[in-house]
Amino acid sequence: MKTPKRLRTDRRASLVLSALVLIAAFCAVLITIWFSLRGATEQNQNLQQIADTLRNALMLLTVVLSSYMLYRQSRALDETRFRAMTENAHHITLIFNPDGSHRYTSPALKLLVNSARARQVRPDEYIHPDDLAKLQKAIEASMHTTDDIHLDSLRCQRHDHQWRTMEAEFVDMRHISGVNGIVANLRDVTEQREAEQSMRILSGAVEQSHGAVMITDKNSIIKYVNPRYCQITGYTKEELIGETARLLEFSDTLDNEQRGMRECISVGKSWTVSMRGTRKNGESYWQAVSASPVIDESGTLTHIVVSVEDTSQQREIHAQMEQLAFYDPLTGLENRRLFKDRLDQCLKQVRRSKQLMALLFLDLDGFKTINDTLGHDAGDELLIIIARRLKQCVREEDIVARLGGDEFTIILSNLKSNKAASSVASKIIQKIQKPVEIAGQEVFISCSIGITIAPNDSMDANILMRNADLAMYRAKDLGKNNSQYFTDDMNLENEARNGLENALRAALTEESFVVYFQPQVDISAHRISGFEALVRWQHPEGDLLPARFIPLAEETGLIIELGEIILRKTCEQMNALHEAGFTDQKVSVNLTERQFRDKNLINMIRSVFAETDFDPRGLQIEITESMLMRDIDKAIDIMQQLKRLGVSIAIDDFGTGFSSLTNLARLPVDTLKVDHRFIKQLTASEDENGITSSVIALAKHMRMTVAAEGVESPEQREFLRQNHCSLQQGFLFCAPVAIGDLIPHLARLQADLKSQDLSH
Ligand code: C2E
Ligand code: MG
Ligand code: MG
Repeated sequence: MKTPKRLRTDRRASLVLSALVLIAAFCAVLITIWFSLRGATEQNQNLQQIADTLRNALMLLTVVLSSYMLYRQSRALDETRFRAMTENAHHITLIFNPDGSHRYTSPALKLLVNSARARQVRPDEYIHPDDLAKLQKAIEASMHTTDDIHLDSLRCQRHDHQWRTMEAEFVDMRHISGVNGIVANLRDVTEQREAEQSMRILSGAVEQSHGAVMITDKNSIIKYVNPRYCQITGYTKEELIGETARLLEFSDTLDNEQRGMRECISVGKSWTVSMRGTRKNGESYWQAVSASPVIDESGTLTHIVVSVEDTSQQREIHAQMEQLAFYDPLTGLENRRLFKDRLDQCLKQVRRSKQLMALLFLDLDGFKTINDTLGHDAGDELLIIIARRLKQCVREEDIVARLGGDEFTIILSNLKSNKAASSVASKIIQKIQKPVEIAGQEVFISCSIGITIAPNDSMDANILMRNADLAMYRAKDLGKNNSQYFTDDMNLENEARNGLENALRAALTEESFVVYFQPQVDISAHRISGFEALVRWQHPEGDLLPARFIPLAEETGLIIELGEIILRKTCEQMNALHEAGFTDQKVSVNLTERQFRDKNLINMIRSVFAETDFDPRGLQIEITESMLMRDIDKAIDIMQQLKRLGVSIAIDDFGTGFSSLTNLARLPVDTLKVDHRFIKQLTASEDENGITSSVIALAKHMRMTVAAEGVESPEQREFLRQNHCSLQQGFLFCAPVAIGDLIPHLARLQADLKSQDLSH
């Protein structure tokens, strides 16, 4: 440590003084000795007195100087001590004179101003101008109190121009020797203040946070909870603080989640999990919990910060979305999507367990009719009841799904044998058959079930679905209300069907269809009254009858294109017949349900008429009774549009479709064609005869024209004639023939009718 200058000066002065005192004392002693040797003369006595006086004066001077020097030395020592305290401290010490002027700066200022002449730098050179008044005020204030004056913040500029925040303490040390002024200690608190500020922001944020926060010590004792935590749990801060955090509680019975958390936290890692919590009111809720350990410098766990999110609502929404995405909203059964997943899982299990699994494909019989006649609400109600019944027929672990419409699938897992599947299927068939009361009516429904077995039939989900579907169609073909196991021949049949479909598509592009005409005769008028157009497919294997391809065309939608081809060919060829002299005869064209309900039907007919220059009055449309069942009002509307076009309408295969009489009366129909099955059975049974005569009577009563089809024998012709049904069609008169062969047939037929060979 360097000795202060003042002390060094004082030391030199005291040496000089001491020397002076010694010299003075020595002189006084010399004078005294000298006088004592010379003897006491009067002159000597005077000199003696002078010497005494001198010696005494010197002694006094010595005492005074020594005291002064002692005083100076003690002051210098105080100052040395004070400096020793201040000059090695990190904080900046300033000393101000009582008049406020600056006197001293400790070396610590160098850290702030970074200058070799730091101690000469005046406070106003680095203290913020706005804070200088504050500084002066503090100096003054400190002189009027015995307490220290504290300044919270004094801005001082650092050498890099950055403003630092200093905390300052002012002490009045005017009366302290070695200081004699106002001492100000300045401490740089910038970082501390910033830290405090961020702490304030942070704790404010935690307090205000929407996320719930809890802080515990390492023993899971709750030290802090924010308001949101209280809100979620229903407890108050007071009730929680000091308690053990239950979710962090470790016991031997803790679940896997908590065990995982403990392991994580013990190695200083954060941990996140979704777990159940209980509110104060006992209500349970789902929470997403994240726990992070707080580790001190020595690496010891001190606290655990836990953030909690109440995810109950999210879970509920998720569950609802899942319900919508994976479940059928009407019946609550699994939907197609989830079913596919389940099927895959079950197949995996089959692979592992080597057990059997059955997939059942179920389709309701005649559901469409119920839906159409009783309405969609009734249809929905029925589906709900069916779903419930299906569930009752299977075990808890079996899966029942609704694929859409009236199609259901069932997975029966862990089966002991194939037979078990058919016994479940029979149980289902029995249960579904039971009458249901819907909309005040007793409804009967049945179902057809296809069954396929994994792994026997396949281990591929798509193949199994197709197998079960094919087996279900076989069950339908076999008269419905039964179940069928998948067999390999169904695949062949399916392949054949696919082959036929492809061939039909090709035939449509090539228009390899021909229209046959079958005359209709009026036996009373002895004339040909009209023709029915009947399509044939010119297939490489020979002409195919409509029964072979019309249902497929209907199913695939190809009938729309085919129907247009048939109508165009019919109109063109009828024009040729007109030219041959058959101008009064109408031609009947058959429509399937899909054609009849096609939105473009009227436009299509109109444009074919225009293209072929055909008179609409020459066309009769044949539709069947069953086609009218679904949405009768819409059907009437379509029929009226057809009538407006100028075409007439006939109900084909009449007597088999169970039309209600009320509905029948509303239909804008011109002709009823009594189904050939009634005609076929004529003469064989009195009852059937009765039905046929009733049907004819009914048509007459409704003021409709009646025609009979499938007339093959003179007996049938006679019976019909007696029952006033003179319009007849059948092999007895003429089979359907292509236009090329028709004219000669017609000439003969006409002649026969005229000669009354066929009329009698
Ligand atoms: P349909 O409209 O009832 O036609 C009458 C069917 O009875 C025709 O069979 C005809 O050949 C057959 N037939 C006529 N006279 C007799 C007879 O004396 N005895 C017997 N047993 N049968 C007779 P085809 O041509 O095989 O047509 C079958 C069905 O296919 C038709 O029944 C009709 O529903 C449908 N069909 C035929 N052609 C077309 C068509 O161009 N378009 C549409 N959509 N359907 C058609
Ligand atoms: Mg017909
Ligand atoms: Mg018919």
